[in-house]
Amino acid sequence: MRPERLNPLFVAADSLKGVGPGLARPLERLGLGRVRDFAYHLPDRFVMRRAVADLDEASVGENIVVKLTPLEYRASAGRGPFRVLASDEAGNVAAITFFGRASYTGKKQLPLGEPRWIAGRLDQYGQMLQIVHPDHVSDDSAQSLGQLVEPVYPLSEGLTQNRIAALIHQALAGVPGLPEWIEPGLLAKMQWPSWRDALELAHKGSHEGARDRLAYDELLANSLALMLVRNSNRRQQGTPLTGDGSLRARLQLPFELTGAQQRAIAEIEADLAQPAPMLRLLQGDVGSGKTAVALETMLVAVEAGAQAALLAPTEILARQHYETLSRMAAPTGVNIALLTGRDKGKARESILMGLMDGSIQIVVGTHAIFQDAVTYRNLALVVIDEQHRFGVAQRLMLNQKGKRTPHCLAMTATPIPRTLTLAQYGEMDVSRLDEMPPGRQPIDTRVVAVERIGDVVGALGRHIESGHQAYWVCPMVRELESEDIAAAEARYAALKERFGDTVVLVHGQLRPEVKDAAMERFARGEASLLVATTVIEVGVDVPNATLMVIEQAERFGLAQLHQLRGRVGRGEGKSTCLLLRGEALSETGRERLALMRETQDGFRLAEEDLRLRGGGELLGTRQSGDTPFRVASLDQITRLLPLAHDDARLLIERDGGLTGERGEAARLLLYLFERDWGVQLLRGG
Ligand code: ADP
Ligand code: MG
Repeated sequence: MRPERLNPLFVAADSLKGVGPGLARPLERLGLGRVRDFAYHLPDRFVMRRAVADLDEASVGENIVVKLTPLEYRASAGRGPFRVLASDEAGNVAAITFFGRASYTGKKQLPLGEPRWIAGRLDQYGQMLQIVHPDHVSDDSAQSLGQLVEPVYPLSEGLTQNRIAALIHQALAGVPGLPEWIEPGLLAKMQWPSWRDALELAHKGSHEGARDRLAYDELLANSLALMLVRNSNRRQQGTPLTGDGSLRARLQLPFELTGAQQRAIAEIEADLAQPAPMLRLLQGDVGSGKTAVALETMLVAVEAGAQAALLAPTEILARQHYETLSRMAAPTGVNIALLTGRDKGKARESILMGLMDGSIQIVVGTHAIFQDAVTYRNLALVVIDEQHRFGVAQRLMLNQKGKRTPHCLAMTATPIPRTLTLAQYGEMDVSRLDEMPPGRQPIDTRVVAVERIGDVVGALGRHIESGHQAYWVCPMVRELESEDIAAAEARYAALKERFGDTVVLVHGQLRPEVKDAAMERFARGEASLLVATTVIEVGVDVPNATLMVIEQAERFGLAQLHQLRGRVGRGEGKSTCLLLRGEALSETGRERLALMRETQDGFRLAEEDLRLRGGGELLGTRQSGDTPFRVASLDQITRLLPLAHDDARLLIERDGGLTGERGEAARLLLYLFERDWGVQLLRGG
């Protein structure tokens, strides 16, 4: 249960004045559901304004505050703007310009003959100075001069800066003070403000200390929670598993395991033999051969007389795994079943029976395999594919399945830098598949200027005609999601006009059934061209798809490009990836695309990505979802995570039950960042 003193922070957004049903969608899109979310909705940057006595003092393009007196209204014909001509004390005249149906606002804000303080950006329109849609108009100099530094918040469609600022202001007023959870020595050394002050300061101006402190809190909460998971896991009762090798000896894999695969399997075997449950991450780029490792691992469990389960994030992936594993494991005679949400009636009943009586030794499926109705005879191992799609909290729920905690092998194809591994998977031991199976054909990667899109479409046509399939990826980069979707839809329409019904479209706003149906048509080879935003399912394997076109490639991060490119190069044939770039290419954009051409090593690209992403021209990390953090930026993670990690470890060593004064404060922190699953483990013992 959340401590009561945090309740004011978790009150729903609609308790704020001015939040009605109309704002529900825009706020939801920004993830602003509760008072705490508003408090943590930090500005992207600040507008700095200069107060000027008259317009002569200001330059065009500058943000200013100036006192002007409205002289005359000028409405234009038709849909033209409404202008208010106003003069400063020296007699210079500027137009205050309103577009759309804003003449009403203009007249109301700027009555003729009455001086007003006006804040906005000074522009030039022909011979005339103008301020378009002033940020503020006030008759109160103190108020205007109090707005010289003003936060600029991330917005979504249907929200304005003034609106969000007012809501955040209201939310901050309701934020209680909380006891300090940061180690006092560190706090003093860093000269960080208290938590409550840091929130205030971070909204008021560019206060690096405040921002760092808030980020540190989030990192500390995360490290603490992961360490609690690890501690608790150590105390759990697992089932030691030792296989006799009999089933594995019967496997007839058509290849030799790579050194990396063999090392990973050895590490896993050693874990499985322990009484404490295994908690291990298998990190290996797309195509590095994680499936074979998973199979060997599951066979150890079966050899030891236990059951194993493989959890996949989607139906399609579950089905693909089931087929691959059944084929590979056929000579062993092990009974493998597939269970997804789609199975109903008799078929489902018979699988449930098999799991209960133990005649099914390996089950592959979606989260359906962990529903209440499913009972296992002796489940001792869970393998999770694409772990990054499941949170730690979800994984912990799987532990409830047996009297003993199953061993867990989590797999991920997302190569992430070492620092981020700590952040994301700090509670686990890590095995890395840092060696690709031999004989992989490199993907021919080329950078093509967007002007040559006609040639690209021509090449695409020849590719499809020769019986191959292809992906066309459109970016999700604009501030308004709807515009991105529109761009993808327009591209789809154009390609469909050219190539007909063989083109399918997938994006995030489609209903899941529609999306699945399109994906399946493509996976079965009924469609040749898949147009998609970046939502292309991770891990979907279509070996015949050997061409990928990525539009506005310079807008993507390296890690993302690498992930996307991994969709091709999966079959025998030679694969190509065409990176379409816009005209205006920045230095880092150029560097990023060059790296893509140069290397296919996911771990290297991940490290370079982290290095290059300081610039902030890409989608912010906050939205991109590739870290578990909403407050901490990549830069802050790099600087502060090691500190937070050590701090967390010390605290847990001294006060593992979090019962001391600082421990109690740390509990608040865990709830504040919704890592309360960490706290819950304390109780479970
Ligand atoms: P991942 O799941 O890590 O992306 P997969 O397990 O699907 O990769 O393996 C990719 C391909 O490589 C599969 O076709 C698999 O049969 C093959 N493969 C796996 N291990 C080896 C190996 N040691 N040598 C050659 N091919 C391998
Ligand atoms: Mg895989």
